Amino acid sequence: MEPSGPDAFYAAAARAAADRELNRKLENASTRHFEHLAVAVSEFAPYQSERDAARRIKEESIERLDELLAELKQRLEARGVKVFFAEDAAAARDYIVRVARQAGVRRVVKGKSMTTEEIGLNPALEQAGIEAVETDLGEYIVQLRREPPSHIITPAIHLSKEDIGELFAEKLGTAYTSDPPALTAVARERLREVFLSAGMGITGVNFAVAETGTLVVVENEGNGRFCTTSPDIHVAVMGIEKVIPRFEDLSHFLEILARTATGQRLTAYTSFLSGPRAADDRDGPRETHLVVLDNGRTRMLADPVLREALYCLRCGACLNACPVYRHIGGHAYKSAYPGPIGSIVSPSLFGAGAAGHLPFASTLCGACKEVCPVKIDIPRILLHLRWKMTEGGGGQVAWPQAPARVRAAAGWFARAARYPSMMRAAGRIGAFLLKPFGHDGYLRRMPGPFAAWTRVRDFPVPSGGNGASGRETK
Ligand code: SF4
Repeated sequence: MEPSGPDAFYAAAARAAADRELNRKLENASTRHFEHLAVAVSEFAPYQSERDAARRIKEESIERLDELLAELKQRLEARGVKVFFAEDAAAARDYIVRVARQAGVRRVVKGKSMTTEEIGLNPALEQAGIEAVETDLGEYIVQLRREPPSHIITPAIHLSKEDIGELFAEKLGTAYTSDPPALTAVARERLREVFLSAGMGITGVNFAVAETGTLVVVENEGNGRFCTTSPDIHVAVMGIEKVIPRFEDLSHFLEILARTATGQRLTAYTSFLSGPRAADDRDGPRETHLVVLDNGRTRMLADPVLREALYCLRCGACLNACPVYRHIGGHAYKSAYPGPIGSIVSPSLFGAGAAGHLPFASTLCGACKEVCPVKIDIPRILLHLRWKMTEGGGGQVAWPQAPARVRAAAGWFARAARYPSMMRAAGRIGAFLLKPFGHDGYLRRMPGPFAAWTRVRDFPVPSGGNGASGRETK
């Protein structure tokens, strides 16, 4: 899913914010996540030192990216893996569709992969006449609803078990139930025959170890392992930033990833993949492909502030922590990557015209940085991106300029703010002019460009120099 500019975002965000049922589901899910996270962290004393170690490894990995990717490619190719570097989403899609067509594949099973969401793989496969079936339970549910995931870890976070029961009854013709084990059993039974008839499995990659040429996939349902071993062809898709130097580095990531993502000590399945099956292997794919995707990541790499976004493990914790995400959910962002991490990577991945508004969709409260397992300074990056948007240039991304009236107003304010006497005089004039329109000291509706403020909160009538505090909601 690709963002489609600010207007679509504002309209979807307003609808989502007014949806009380959605707000309740998101709040429940986020609260549960933090309860589990608190327990997982409290029983693991080295949590903070593991975060520091993981961050140091990511710093090193991004610093040595060229060298590590070359080493990874060489090790994998030596074992028969076909490695393809895709400059953009279209190149990655075309390559995967070509491999499927050449092998006569009619059905593909997919493990959960945000990178394939980013490149819009499912519609491309569908267009080529190839059925793509999501096999992660949450992804399977949202695919049945023909909608994108609304969270990078829990794709169906916006649905209740009752919603899923109704969906299965309607789409799969099963008797209605809202019992989670019964619903899981239905999906399991349906997917089993799909796995056995698929000619290709497609998954993401959580870590790619350069030293050993190992692709690591972590998941909880076993579907990822099925996708990588049962079909004749396995295609793994990863961003360039997933490479890490050494096998021993993995332990630090595995200690923190499951804890921050789901509050577990360890994910249920950790698969180490090294290539197609050998002559004496009893199972495994006959062909393995690795698609290594750039799609704007080298632009991030070239920006000294933004490059930190490449440390991301896609754990999803910053989404759960973010007051904006918790209010509007993932669909409103209209990006494969919603929430705080989405707001900092989407402009580079999808273009500033489509997603340059997302860095503004934040309160800058800092909760995302606090919870991030590799301590990415998301608020700093958000401010950096806002600066780029407002200044209308810098870096290698073609950032659109803020409208002339906004730049002019910001310039006037900057000049006035340098002179306290001028600010006091402006406050007194404002208080005099606005007082007649106030109720209990607040304005319910403001005209012109100020209307956006009072759409969601009241504005305090200026005190004329005595100070005033705002109130949050209408
Ligand atoms: S930015 Fe940090 S918290 Fe957010 S998804 Fe990435 S690793 Fe997780």
